Amino acid sequence: MRAGLKRTVWLMLLIGLVMPAWADVQVKGIRMWPAPDNTRLVFDLSDPVDHSLFSLKTPDRIVIDLKDARFPGQLPDFDFTNSYIKNVRYAARKGNALRFVLDLNAQVRPKSFVLKPHGEYGHRLVIDLFDAEQAAPPKSLPNQGTRPDRAREVIIAIDAGHGGEDPGAIGRKGTREKDVVLAIARKLERLLQQEPGMRPVMIRDGDYYVGLRDRVEKARQYQADLLISIHADAFNDHRARGSSVYVLSDRGASSEAARFLAQSENSADLIGGVSLDDKDDLLKLVLVDMVKNSTIEDSHDVAARVLRDLRHVNTLHKNRVEQAAFRVLKSPDVPSILIETAFISNPEGERKLRSSRHQDALANAILGGVRSYFHSNPPPGTVLASSRPKRHVVSRGDTLSEIAARYRVSVGTIRRHNGLRSDRLKVGEVLHIPLT
Ligand SMILES: [Zn+2]
Repeated sequence: MRAGLKRTVWLMLLIGLVMPAWADVQVKGIRMWPAPDNTRLVFDLSDPVDHSLFSLKTPDRIVIDLKDARFPGQLPDFDFTNSYIKNVRYAARKGNALRFVLDLNAQVRPKSFVLKPHGEYGHRLVIDLFDAEQAAPPKSLPNQGTRPDRAREVIIAIDAGHGGEDPGAIGRKGTREKDVVLAIARKLERLLQQEPGMRPVMIRDGDYYVGLRDRVEKARQYQADLLISIHADAFNDHRARGSSVYVLSDRGASSEAARFLAQSENSADLIGGVSLDDKDDLLKLVLVDMVKNSTIEDSHDVAARVLRDLRHVNTLHKNRVEQAAFRVLKSPDVPSILIETAFISNPEGERKLRSSRHQDALANAILGGVRSYFHSNPPPGTVLASSRPKRHVVSRGDTLSEIAARYRVSVGTIRRHNGLRSDRLKVGEVLHIPLT
């Protein structure tokens, strides 16, 4: 009996020692996400893997070796359009290793990192390929006109939440947040393109993931006057419905839903996959308190106007602007709002989110709020600031025709606009000069 027990213990110890060699990491699948400035390859793994990576030239290749790994499946049918990769090959190597070779269209700068299980995803190895020609990512972004003598347009950065590896919330019918918010974002983009004095820029313009910090960084590089992050999340209560608009809060979130959403949004990087090796320089910048406070104030103003217009399209989840610590709102100097268009977890919300007409209505409501904000608060130096309605205070000796000539409008226009019955002016009287 005693000897038997001893044998069992020894056997267990032995298995414990030998096990790691047996326990191969299984490559369960490979996914590719081409973005405008990088290509991402994601290996889905059964366990954490030891990997090494190196580049080869003529022709350009990347070699990825996985230790103690096997790939029982087949390579998916990759679509290599707009990707730095033109082919993927693999072979088993001596000593239980697995070698993947990426044939490339161009020389790239590779970066690799592993991700722990999160949500529906297990262990992952992520390979990001950046253009070697360009210095550190992100690449230089098209900037606004550099002619200082010319009034510029108001820049609106539109951020469709999630993307690529990160589907966001998923409705009961399988609607993915990342798809519907991109559709709404594109509709808003089109509307803003037609809006005088404004220009939209897309933070994400396809099915790929952009890290939360990169979203903030991109908006700042575009010198955006406003960042609008568009979402359609799930809440653990399926009855939760309606639209919400959020601004950044430093302290406690303003409701339980806000806390819950901030938590799930901020973990998007764990799902979407962002290496954490160069973290949080920006947050130090965030400590420039005065700038930040006025940014939050501005954000609040835009948010309130957007909320007012959303009321006509959707029920509101809360009747006021909510506050939560969403990482994507943490630009110290770019007013930023996050719009929860609807809860995708609510069946009615999901149905509406899929409808193109409802998406149009949402985009129009957002535009309404944004327009109202920038017409009342045009940033200095913008077209909107220079074409603002003016006021003229009548001084001694002013005549209507002189005033009209000065503002390049007709006498009739001033008369009509101010309800003047005669051409006689009173000193100190305020005349509104309409837009030309
Ligand atoms: Zn979301």
